[in-house]
Amino acid sequence: MRAKVDADTCTGCELCTQTCPEIFYMKGDVAEAKDIDVPAEYEDACKQAAEECPVEAIIIK
Ligand code: SF4
Repeated sequence: MRAKVDADTCTGCELCTQTCPEIFYMKGDVAEAKDIDVPAEYEDACKQAAEECPVEAIIIK
């Protein structure tokens, strides 16, 4: 599983970086996801971050 942030859509609210800091971090005004396979122990938090993103900018594959 991998996560990606659509930088054009992200509003920089930082919610995902609080919900799943192991994967999401701020880069300037927008969030980015680490370009790694999400470790199994962080999958639930990563999915939660995607579901809770107010603008649905997080894509999970
Ligand atoms: S929760 Fe969504 S809008 Fe907020 S920083 Fe993360 S990707 Fe951006």
